[in-house]
Amino acid sequence: MSLAAWIRCGWPLTPTTAPMTTESYDFSRCKLCGAAAAAPRYRLKTTTIQVCAACDFHFINQLDVMPTERPEAEVRTLDVVAWNFIEKQLKKNRRLLEQRLALVARHLPLNETECLDIGAGVGLFGHLLQEAGATSFGIEPQLIFRQFAEEKYRLQLRAETIEHPFWQERHAGHFAVVTLWDTLEHLNFPVETLRDAIQVMKPGGLLFLDTPSRDSFYYRISEWSYRLSNGANPLFLNSLYSPKPFRHKQIFTVQQLTDLIERLGLKVVELNRSGLFDSSNKIMLVAQKPGDSAR
Ligand SMILES: [Zn+2]
Repeated sequence: MSLAAWIRCGWPLTPTTAPMTTESYDFSRCKLCGAAAAAPRYRLKTTTIQVCAACDFHFINQLDVMPTERPEAEVRTLDVVAWNFIEKQLKKNRRLLEQRLALVARHLPLNETECLDIGAGVGLFGHLLQEAGATSFGIEPQLIFRQFAEEKYRLQLRAETIEHPFWQERHAGHFAVVTLWDTLEHLNFPVETLRDAIQVMKPGGLLFLDTPSRDSFYYRISEWSYRLSNGANPLFLNSLYSPKPFRHKQIFTVQQLTDLIERLGLKVVELNRSGLFDSSNKIMLVAQKPGDSAR
């Protein structure tokens, strides 16, 4: 996967508390509802999309091996080529991140607010939070991006993913804001990661996330095309999913995502579903943990 895609996409996080591992996962088990009801439906060039007969969740039959599981695979270094490449991508992403910051600021004052960005990439969002007066923590499993965040922004991102005791024990009920920007679709186990993210939120704390929508025109027309062509022409499905490391593994419908968030005990307080022909194809969601005092 390219650095550009890495930066854009954020990171998958593998919960060790989940009753499965990346090596032994049985893909007939639905990653959303847990039923043994998922079967291959769309066979693409490089991967296969499983569909759950119980809840209609779509996910591919591949998982990422995390750097923590295989540290020797992390050979890329932050040389001048990588640095310049990241800088160039950041210029493109800055406006989007500023819009996300404005969304968070619309929901609560940021000054002295404790925030955690899951899938922090090179730390630009965390940096913007700090500029706004917030205290910013970030999770970033990839060493090269942590190095960039440290050198560029003096921001120390953590390698430990959200299921780690560093978060679950030392930061339980701690954060007023947790963000997952463009991250949910990349996670090995999105339900478990969200559950663990909610554990570190304060009562009354807010969760912000965005993720591609399966209700989009592009997705629907691709499914029709696949069926009509007997699999010969899956249109955009080939670009919506990828077996390469840290790429899209699942895409939620608005209903599946809001049901999940509520099942995990949060209340959806703002929801932006992209229109059928909206080119962003994104669901943007803000949800609140029960209780008072987010700050
Ligand atoms: Zn299911």
